[in-house]
Amino acid sequence: MGKSGVGMSDVKPLPDFLSYGSHYIDEADRKAVDEVLRSDRLTCGDKVDEFEKALCVKVNGQYAVCCSNGTTALHMASYALDIQVGDKVVVPTITFLATANAPHFCGADIIFADVDPQTALLTPETFQKAIDNADGQIKAVFPVHIAGHVCDMEGISKIARANDIAIIEDACHAFGSIYKDNPVGSCEYSDMTMFSFHPVKNIAMGEGGAILTNSQNYAERMQRFRSHGMIKNDDMAMWEYQMPDPGMNYRLTDIQCALGLSQLDKLDQFKNHRQTLRKKYAQCLQGHGDLIQLMPVADHSDACWHLAVALIDFSKLSIDRDGLMRELADLNIGTQVHYIPVHTQPYYKKIKVFDLPNAMAYYDRALTLPLHMNMTQDHVEAITSNLLEILQRFGLKDVA
Ligand SMILES: *Cc1c(COP(=O)(O)O)cnc(C)c1O
Repeated sequence: MGKSGVGMSDVKPLPDFLSYGSHYIDEADRKAVDEVLRSDRLTCGDKVDEFEKALCVKVNGQYAVCCSNGTTALHMASYALDIQVGDKVVVPTITFLATANAPHFCGADIIFADVDPQTALLTPETFQKAIDNADGQIKAVFPVHIAGHVCDMEGISKIARANDIAIIEDACHAFGSIYKDNPVGSCEYSDMTMFSFHPVKNIAMGEGGAILTNSQNYAERMQRFRSHGMIKNDDMAMWEYQMPDPGMNYRLTDIQCALGLSQLDKLDQFKNHRQTLRKKYAQCLQGHGDLIQLMPVADHSDACWHLAVALIDFSKLSIDRDGLMRELADLNIGTQVHYIPVHTQPYYKKIKVFDLPNAMAYYDRALTLPLHMNMTQDHVEAITSNLLEILQRFGLKDVA
């Protein structure tokens, strides 16, 4: 225990360090990977097709194009839409860097949008405001389903349709979530939906990503882009291939897809457990008003919770976020902040300064607590009692 722990009697360090997110691998996963390793195809084999088919079934989508990670998925989706130099796209500022960087690499100017200060989601109102501020045609919008709960896609798509704007859902946090009656990925209210299967996300593939779409045109463009822009067909000579447009190598291996398939079998179980843990957090953190609360749930979504975000009013406490994170780390509790508003990054600030007050109000209070499959409800109790114990030393009081 660090120096800050001296003299504290009521905190109880966890026996092992718990990070804010983590993968869960079982014997079936190891067997599935081992099978591929013993086969004669490590990449470009059957497991890739199998994984894509399974994804389509799972999320009720028509086409799935898997790729090397979530960032390349965003790049492929931007390419499929033909985003070019000078095009404008709307990206909510509370997201990971990649949501903005991928279309920006295609040449797009990023119009950062504000978010709801409680849920951190892009809303129809903040989307409309970004359009009004943009002064010119917008090519695409990238709603981000932060923490696993889903944006008001019906409202957002109404505005997008009226303004001829394509929608790419960044659902890296929301694999397994359901919006109204349909799984995220069914693209009921969007052109494309992309996922990441980084180990910290809802299922793990080492690295991995996918785009779901109901457009054959987008799917074919992405399949080509994923493999150098090459086409090959039966009319060609045995050795021949053609490249109508250049592409990249953004493929996934059969090793990864075998792991993905095996993890997919556990998604419902993962979702259940993540929901149970989040409910426990909500129980354990209630009763302190605005001083500390769990991020409220967007009302129309059945979320496969990726993150447990606590909103803490540090302006009313005598400890800052960094101080609290250090105290918690001393007790073996890993925390993180999702996310630093992307519009405040040095690079994007250099291009254009945005005033997005709700996003900043959210950012000032956000702290992500551990939520993953290697945890029990007892962990949540231990985490929250330590957290409240610390905050009580720094001015937290119960609200009657
Ligand atoms: C993880 C993540 C990405 C990038 O996915 P990678 O697989 O890490 O490249 C993009 N957007 C969001 C919201 C993410 O959480």
